[in-house]
Amino acid sequence: MLLRHTSKEPAERTALTVNPAKTCQPVGAMYAALGIHNCLPHSHGSQGCCAYHRSALTRHYKDPVMATTSSFTEGASVFGGQANLVEAINNIFTIYDPDIIAVHTTCLSEVIGDDLKQIINKALADGKIPDGKTVIHSNTPSFKGSHITGFANMTQSMVSYLSVNTGQKQNRINIIPGFVEPSDMTEIKRIAAEMGIQTILFPDTSGVVNGPLDGKFHMYPKGGTPIKDIIAAGDSRYTMALGRTASLPAAKLLDTKCKVPFEVTDIPIGLRATDQFIDSLRKIAGVSVPESLTTERGQVVDVLTDMHQYFYKTKVALVGDPDHLVSLTQFLADMDMDVRYVVTGTPAGPKFERRIREFAGENVIVKHGLGADMFMFHQLVKHDKPDLIFGNTYAKYIARDEDIPLIRIGFPIYDRVGHQYFPVVGYRGALRFLEKILNALLDRQDRDAPEESFELIM
Ligand code: SF4
Repeated sequence: MLLRHTSKEPAERTALTVNPAKTCQPVGAMYAALGIHNCLPHSHGSQGCCAYHRSALTRHYKDPVMATTSSFTEGASVFGGQANLVEAINNIFTIYDPDIIAVHTTCLSEVIGDDLKQIINKALADGKIPDGKTVIHSNTPSFKGSHITGFANMTQSMVSYLSVNTGQKQNRINIIPGFVEPSDMTEIKRIAAEMGIQTILFPDTSGVVNGPLDGKFHMYPKGGTPIKDIIAAGDSRYTMALGRTASLPAAKLLDTKCKVPFEVTDIPIGLRATDQFIDSLRKIAGVSVPESLTTERGQVVDVLTDMHQYFYKTKVALVGDPDHLVSLTQFLADMDMDVRYVVTGTPAGPKFERRIREFAGENVIVKHGLGADMFMFHQLVKHDKPDLIFGNTYAKYIARDEDIPLIRIGFPIYDRVGHQYFPVVGYRGALRFLEKILNALLDRQDRDAPEESFELIM
């Protein structure tokens, strides 16, 4: 109902965004910072920004997300936020006692031009950073990029501030997981452990934003990558960066700063991307794939084969984040689904478009960056109606208006639970994803079937 005025013919726009298909950089930076154990994310800007970032993450995870703010008012907005940040650092260590503060900027502090490195050095010189405590920062201007860029920037800052090459190489593999769910991070660690491989996964939000309710408030939950592990990442043998947009900058910096070679693979969503991830792990670590993973793979192939008739030529439209969209397109195209539209508000570059076309064929319509928004996505959906939409919570307005089933994936998902606890990566994740797709298609088929063809058995 809300969007029924959206015109049917897609119109290219260069100077106007309507309902962005992304959120702002600091949301991603805050999420990445939560993936360090005992870390308090800090937003250098006004209270409103911090309130929005916290509430976006809290509503997505249904868990309280802790963060502090420099609380800019008129004075800081004109003269800069140095005094606010130095005082904030002092207050945070005195009152909340984290091991590390991860500061990210906002639009306002970026426009003023605050030099965060210099401010942190001043706090250090003034004795506001106690011994053994750390402050890192990342520049996250939200007038460019998206939450994925913010995640990438903060993860890169972890390497820049913390990782050290001591010259003593360790037989470990770093995994930079990208902006995925804590459940996905747990699954990635489980797969590596199943293969007998020692890993350092960072950032790691598992056990932070999906912890149990135990009757007590934990300012710093049990999860998160220990700082010592991010330092030790500089001595690892290899890095695997999952997803070019969110993980490549940190992997590149680990290579140039600490001489840790890296490989970029897709987020292991779907059969082929998981095969590639496991194959890369196997080769790098020199191990073989255990029977348990082969069995999990076989189960996915079994369901794919049994249910192929429901997937074949089903028209789908995808909106979300670039690294997810690449893996998802490959997965769906491999299932013989017809991927019609792929839209992301994150500027993803020509490589992104090439890869989507490689999987979905030349006819797929790909939009990214400026002008690629929910309005454009709705116009495309209206123009030639797909059978299924994949997207975040905001896609539900379009799905409802056009009466198309929606599979929720990506960020944010405000109106459902499950993403925190059940992975979509790996073979187990693929199985869950297949179940979701089939349920959506068959529920629709049951709803619309005439009496004489309403079947009990698939
Ligand atoms: S877009 Fe900029 S001003 Fe708006 S919430 Fe994000 S950081 Fe703050």
